[in-house]
Amino acid sequence: MEMNIPKKMLGMKLPGGAKVEAVEVDVPTPGYGQVLLKMKAASLCGSDLKYIYYEHTDKTGGARYDDVIAGHEPSGQIVALGEGVTNFKIGDKVCVYHIQGCGYCDECKKGYFINCQMPERRAYGWQRDGALGEYMVADVSTCILLPEFLTYEDGAMIACGFGTAYQGLLRAGVSGQDRVLVMGLGPVGQATIMIAKALGAETIGVDISEERMEMAKNVGADVVLKGNDNVVEEIMKLTDGKGVEVAIDCSGSSIGRHRCLEAARMWGNVVYLGEQGTVTFEPSPLLLHKNLTLHGSWVTSVGNMERLVELLDRKKIHPSKVITHRFPLRETDKAFEIFATGKTGKVCINHEME
Ligand SMILES: [Zn+2]
Ligand SMILES: [Zn+2]
Repeated sequence: MEMNIPKKMLGMKLPGGAKVEAVEVDVPTPGYGQVLLKMKAASLCGSDLKYIYYEHTDKTGGARYDDVIAGHEPSGQIVALGEGVTNFKIGDKVCVYHIQGCGYCDECKKGYFINCQMPERRAYGWQRDGALGEYMVADVSTCILLPEFLTYEDGAMIACGFGTAYQGLLRAGVSGQDRVLVMGLGPVGQATIMIAKALGAETIGVDISEERMEMAKNVGADVVLKGNDNVVEEIMKLTDGKGVEVAIDCSGSSIGRHRCLEAARMWGNVVYLGEQGTVTFEPSPLLLHKNLTLHGSWVTSVGNMERLVELLDRKKIHPSKVITHRFPLRETDKAFEIFATGKTGKVCINHEME
């Protein structure tokens, strides 16, 4: 298959000050072990807002922005192969794990490129060119083939969003025996509900936003509760006074985290997925005397992402169900503006839109 690849392309950078800058750059050439992707979809992420869009807040760490083409949730079609690529062919539809690690440290060997501490670690859209361009070079070690059922929009949301949710559920060993409380119903909370259902669990979603409560119902939550002062009581009533087997915080709020501990039953598992903020709690009544296991969980591994792709395909789940707004690449500025209101579900750039 011959693909027509132009010399120049459009790309979007985030200079700070809530601006999106359109630039024209050369279409890159894939090197050894790399492929060139024609980008098809790129979803926006809360971390883009937090670390880059308003202000480049991280000068030295993993969230450092090196003035590259932005966007770390890529999905696209392979249009050119670099040297040494044998496991993919031109025309393949892939999603991309959003970080390339050094490849030789303990965490990289396990596939957790996210945890790589070496200076070679590069994240797409942070330290190397990302998804908000017409083309992107990707390392094949970060590419996963998408089955026919999953669309490019689905693919864009797998690594960072659905992968994070899946990893949290794996940490708690969620099965059909469990009732899973999901605290906070933003995109990751909704993903947690969809995957927990696929694993056979019952789900209870909690949020303070009516819009997000409605979205959680749409993706199949069994019960959705408003995050009022008496919400833990309501959860206790729903579980015969025992509490839930698994509570997953996707809110990142101190009150949400506290309520997860309160609502978990004896010997239960609590997972903290929501970023930032703090929490203060009394360990004796809330953790020790309940024999709880509290997990911190961050993103996922390439291997688990591959298992998740299989699961989504088998259970016929479209991650794109959590998208509420779509824009073409050239309207990336509008996409960020609406995403920054905090009232949307997932916002996605669809490169096939005009
Ligand atoms: Zn993300
Ligand atoms: Zn590494």
